[in-house]
Amino acid sequence: MAEKGILLVVSGFSGAGKGTLLQKLLEKYDSFVLSISATTRNPREGERDGREYFFRSKEEFEAMIEAGDLIEYACYVGNYYGTPRAYVEEQLAQGKDVILEIEIQGARKIKERYPDSVLLFLSPPSAEELKRRLISRGTESMEVVENRLSRAAQEAQGMEDYDYFVINDNLEDCVRQVHQIIESEHARCFRNGEQIRKIREEVEKFQK
Ligand code: 5GP
Repeated sequence: MAEKGILLVVSGFSGAGKGTLLQKLLEKYDSFVLSISATTRNPREGERDGREYFFRSKEEFEAMIEAGDLIEYACYVGNYYGTPRAYVEEQLAQGKDVILEIEIQGARKIKERYPDSVLLFLSPPSAEELKRRLISRGTESMEVVENRLSRAAQEAQGMEDYDYFVINDNLEDCVRQVHQIIESEHARCFRNGEQIRKIREEVEKFQK
């Protein structure tokens, strides 16, 4: 039987380039799947329900919390965001690596509930670059941009809780680096219990 997949949490300041990085990673390597979160925020132009997010009302979201359908959720800049349980658990059981692109409070909850998960923080090369990227994206009002920048200062306090810190300067290098991290994580002994037992039993047969 395949070993369980890795639950990879990717966080980073809004504007760090998480979306682009993950898109590339998914295009290049078919061992990864991306979890689709539920949110109460309004869809941005071009976003579709069930593709970027499951867009839900506050009441619908609270019903999901009540029913235990979310493995974590958090409030971010006035809206709920949460990770639906069923898909994540099915995919992990099938040996797929599941990526959650979530903010820092959610990442902490995941680490508590899934201690074998891998937490990766993606950072832009500088704060100036972060501001530039957020403004040039042009999808949000200046007020939302400012809220997101101010939230970045809070998130910066929690970066040490992550397992990996990766700088997104050159996209291709960054994709390669994240892939290598996951490959190395797969090689860790605690994730290979069955293989280890099997080879041990086999070599023990050579013993005189
Ligand atoms: P955005 O509104 O830009 O799509 O996302 C805002 C923030 O919410 C991002 O930092 C994103 O990583 C985070 N986020 C998206 N989905 C989830 C989720 O399911 N749970 C948590 N805790 N955060 C999420």
